[in-house]
Parts: sequence; C-alpha cells; structure tokens
Amino acid sequence: MNLILMGLPGAGKGTQAEKIIDTYHIPHISTGDMFRAAIAEGTELGLEAKRYMDEGQLVPDEVTTGIVKERLAKADCDRGFLLDGFPRTMAQAEALNQIMAELNKKIDAVINIEVDPSVIVDRLSGRFICKECGATYHKLYNRPKVEGTCDRCGGHEFYQREDDKPETVKNRLAVNIESSKPILEFYAKEGVLHNVDGDRDIDDVFADVKTIIETSAR
Ligand SMILES: [Zn+2]
Repeated sequence: MNLILMGLPGAGKGTQAEKIIDTYHIPHISTGDMFRAAIAEGTELGLEAKRYMDEGQLVPDEVTTGIVKERLAKADCDRGFLLDGFPRTMAQAEALNQIMAELNKKIDAVINIEVDPSVIVDRLSGRFICKECGATYHKLYNRPKVEGTCDRCGGHEFYQREDDKPETVKNRLAVNIESSKPILEFYAKEGVLHNVDGDRDIDDVFADVKTIIETSAR
C-alpha cells in the first residue's frame, strides 16, 4: 500500500499518520525525516541538501526528489509506505510519478484530511505568552486559571508571537491551500484522491481512512 497523506497544518495529519503506521506497519516517510537521514548517512544528495539548508535556502526540487527516490527504493518500502509532506509542488508530484514508474510501483491512494480553515486558524493562532516570565498559554487548550493572570508569576500582560497571530496563520493557510490545489486536482484526475472530513472525532476520521486504505490498496 503506497499512500500519500495530505491536509493543512493543524488538520490532525500527524495523529492519523501515527494510527496508519501502527495499524499497517509501513514506514512513515516525511520530508524532514528523509532529509535528516540522508544528511546523517552522508549520501551525495544529503550533503547537497545540507549545503542549501545551511545557507538558509530552499532545497531545489531535483535534490528533494532524488532523496525521495533513494528512500522509496529501500527494502522497508517493499510492502508500502506513507508519504507525508511530499509532494508539495506540481513539479514534485510529476517527479514522484516518474520515480514510481522507475521503481515499478504506483500510488494507491492519496488521503486528504479536509477541515474548515477557520477552525484551524483558531487552533493554530491561540498561543499567547506572559510578558513577565515567558509562560505560554493557549486560548482554547490552556488558559490561565484566573483569567488575565499568569499562573506562574501573577503577571497581567501577555503578547502573541508574529507567527501565532491570526492574520499570519490565515495567510500561511491561504498559501498552503493555493499550492496544494493543483496537486489535489492532479491526483483526482489520476483517480486516487480520497477526501476525508477531518472535522470529527479522531477515531471516526480514522475509520474512514481505514476503509479507503483497505479498498484501494493491497
Ligand atoms: Zn508569567
């Protein structure tokens, strides 16, 4: 079963990935892990990727896809794999098809966890920090015991990091939605795209994910 997991940040992708791995015992292949492994092993592509990362630059598609190909060719992927965070661009999606053809494999299912972006904005933009002592809180999951007062130091002033502000999160999501759209259309055309409603209980979402895997992948 060769699977791709897609979804916006904050859609619960990580949780579903864990459940898929636990249930089907296939390797979880995320771009970040792949880069780290290639760099640790000192492969030619890994070192090339490291040069770009050290300079604070984006790793070019051809280096990334090279690393993906090396990873997918390993023996632990014989029974399948779960790709997470890749492909991120159309060029990567097309390169992945090429890789799969060369390795004599195919993508069985692309599972796209769909959530209402406004729900994600609330989840991802809720963090605020005590100005006095740096204690962090979340307006949905971790509020101070006494409203407006820091549990740790009793301070009353809080701030949000630029990255955690609703406007920043909204912009980040908009960019993400825009860039994933052609990729989702690409897989829809290939007949392998499955959308799952992610605005539900973790177990209900996973029940759907299981059905998709068991009907589309052998
Ligand atoms: Zn404090």
